[in-house]
Amino acid sequence: MRYERGTLHELLGDFVVYRSLAPQDARLPGQAEIWAELGLPKSYLPRKAEAPYAQVILRILQAAQALRTRAPLSRLLYIGDTKRNDALTIASLGKHLPIRGFIAAEAAGEPEKVEIQGGVMYANRWEALADFLDWLHKERYPLDDETALLLDLDKTAFGARGRNSQVIDSARVAALRRTVEEALGGAFDEQAFRTVYDELNQEKYHGFTYDNQDFLAYICLMVVGGAYEFSKLLSDLAAGRLRTFADFIAACAGRPIPKELAPIHQEVYASFRQGDPTPFKSFRRREYEETVARMDSLPDEATEEVVLAEEIVLTREVIELCRYLKGKGVLIFGLTDKPDEASLPPPELRARGYPPLHRARMKLLGTPLGL
Ligand SMILES: [Mg+2]
Repeated sequence: MRYERGTLHELLGDFVVYRSLAPQDARLPGQAEIWAELGLPKSYLPRKAEAPYAQVILRILQAAQALRTRAPLSRLLYIGDTKRNDALTIASLGKHLPIRGFIAAEAAGEPEKVEIQGGVMYANRWEALADFLDWLHKERYPLDDETALLLDLDKTAFGARGRNSQVIDSARVAALRRTVEEALGGAFDEQAFRTVYDELNQEKYHGFTYDNQDFLAYICLMVVGGAYEFSKLLSDLAAGRLRTFADFIAACAGRPIPKELAPIHQEVYASFRQGDPTPFKSFRRREYEETVARMDSLPDEATEEVVLAEEIVLTREVIELCRYLKGKGVLIFGLTDKPDEASLPPPELRARGYPPLHRARMKLLGTPLGL
């Protein structure tokens, strides 16, 4: 089968922000300028669910709009995959401009379900983007050059949640395993690593890990590397002797750390104390490598089933809707909470032609919407 292939760049250009909120298009205002304008503290990086995130995004959108037309920005659209964070972002953007959102997570085994709540359509099929468009038409929601679509990238534009998102997760786990393996060399125990990771990756530990994969990576490494015994960690958590990641890293700093783990401990502890939400840089760089390695890696002979299981692909339904809207004059802007270090090549890889994720070539898979 001949797969269609493409990049997000064909749709977005460099109208993209990764987690740092630094626009990839150099013509757009940078962090220093926007933060000063909005009066935000310099070291503060708003996350999706927080109100200032919407203010920053709107400021960038207005600048992007001004680059292409003198028409004002009058309304928004939003497509994402996470019920909590994306819905909160939609709600805070909605305080500034009219907005309609679509949030999907595919559940192929369940009956199709589409519901609208507070200006957001929730669906368990990506195909329901066709229903989203019908809804916009019925509401006479204008789709023109005064409209901007905010498109979530991670697990929406590529690696569709519930359909292909497990490959994004497996890239991260592979990066984590490589980080631990390279640090521990011959002493790496894969089974022990999996036991610790699978236990602590559960929602009941989010109060401890903040569901932050950098924190989780560091914790796994310290436990598997022998700096903190697993049974002691679990009992300290159960007894409330350890509550937060800050408690844990401070406890590690006060213990003898095996010498092969010392450089990583120093790297993470130093960034963490500066308030960096992505303190484990070397792990995130490996995540970038593992992620691009899963994009368009298989030949055309591979079946769709195999491609969906092993590669990160563009979500056909999302791309088709975006192409349609772009044809109507809608501004399309990509945003994602994915850390910059996991999305952009470091200088030595950039020199060898490695692309930022929005410029990486991927296969396009999904159901045609027939627009
Ligand atoms: Mg997402």
